[in-house]
Amino acid sequence: MITLKEALTKSSEELADIKEELKNRAKSSQLNAYIDFSSYGDGVPILIKDNIQVKGWSITSGSKILQGYIAPYNATVVENLLSNGLSPFGRANMDEFAMGSTTENSFYGVTKNPHDRSRVAGGSSGGSASAVGGKIAICALGSDTGGSIRQPASYCGCVGMKPTYGRVSRYGLSAYASSLDQIGPITQNVEDSAILYDIIASHDPKDSTSSDVKLNSVSKNLNPDRKLKIAVVDNYIDEASDSIKKAYRETVKALESEGHEIIHTTMTNTKYDIATYYIVATAEATTNLARYDGIRYGNRQDGKNLADTYIKTRNLFGDEVKRRILLGNFVLSSGYYDAYYLKAQKVRHLIREEYSRVFQEADLILSPIAPDVAPKIGSFQDPLEMYKSDMFTISVNLAGLPAISIPVDRDENGMPIGLQLIGNLFQEQRVFDGAMSLERAINYK
Ligand code: GLN
Repeated sequence: MITLKEALTKSSEELADIKEELKNRAKSSQLNAYIDFSSYGDGVPILIKDNIQVKGWSITSGSKILQGYIAPYNATVVENLLSNGLSPFGRANMDEFAMGSTTENSFYGVTKNPHDRSRVAGGSSGGSASAVGGKIAICALGSDTGGSIRQPASYCGCVGMKPTYGRVSRYGLSAYASSLDQIGPITQNVEDSAILYDIIASHDPKDSTSSDVKLNSVSKNLNPDRKLKIAVVDNYIDEASDSIKKAYRETVKALESEGHEIIHTTMTNTKYDIATYYIVATAEATTNLARYDGIRYGNRQDGKNLADTYIKTRNLFGDEVKRRILLGNFVLSSGYYDAYYLKAQKVRHLIREEYSRVFQEADLILSPIAPDVAPKIGSFQDPLEMYKSDMFTISVNLAGLPAISIPVDRDENGMPIGLQLIGNLFQEQRVFDGAMSLERAINYK
């Protein structure tokens, strides 16, 4: 598959042929990664997750409640793509409202893993990662609230990057948990990831949390020879499977052989990550999803009166979304607010502080992405089991940090294993430099 870097040098005629080929391959792939093949412009085709607005396209966030809704404007990231020679091409499947870790919770059905179609692609940006890993997309955009770019990228053998919170505009992204959401690139390699990151990162007055910290091109300054201090968190990997542990140990050796200094450390607040995240994220989601009432957006189910219309319409949400709305309302309700929501905010602060402590001596942190490779479709019957699989990714969002997932190994069944390099706030250059050095040292095929 042609890389983004190469595709940017092609003529619009050549790109038209590439799009035709992608469409045919996607249709015969049976991955269910694309849910639509709309095309916008004649630039380099990029697959767009179904929660990012492209003017005139349907946007459903994988939900029946938004069926039939047409985006009235372009997200800022889409404007950035268009002015840099890229064209939205196709809609990627996703977990409903980005809630999930498997892309099994989509109104459009399950997305499959390109390396084994009986396994999940990961989630919630499963369509984006499956398509890039399955070589039916050159690159894609995803969104990451608690791991949704990095984890599916890891399951599908591609590179997924979550920028620092505020670095990429959220204007035109369907909100899940607004203090955690970030849009980011899913690509075939680290250099393409840096190129795409440069294109989408911008200061945007339309997003009140957008950062105006100075932006430098990371792709023009990529330096895999830069020597970095990389922290390995010794207690982090205890809960990972044997194949992940083995990949982790080998990656540490590869980083050492590249001349990086390895620092051993421990982090204790990580044991509260899952509880903290699932309180903060569901509280914010409850508030954000209150707008889907059948009056303003999308699919309306008329009832006997207004309250009945609300109830019938909101019944279009899938089970996982309903579960989170219930949870979010519970933790925000007056009797429990202090015990859950307020406490979670305090723990979130401690998690951030612990990262700051590690970054006083380290440039990057190496960590697993998931406790194991992509599970079989249908393995998570208990939602808590699925939540637990987010244990390595969610603290990065709670702390707002940039991180990149890179494929480093395969397990005995040939399933890809990704690990992540986490950087301090706005240290994307170090993240990409370290990732490029690791990619060179590992030479993953
Ligand atoms: N799996 C996590 C959740 O369900 C993260 C999802 C995401 O990053 N959008 O909330």
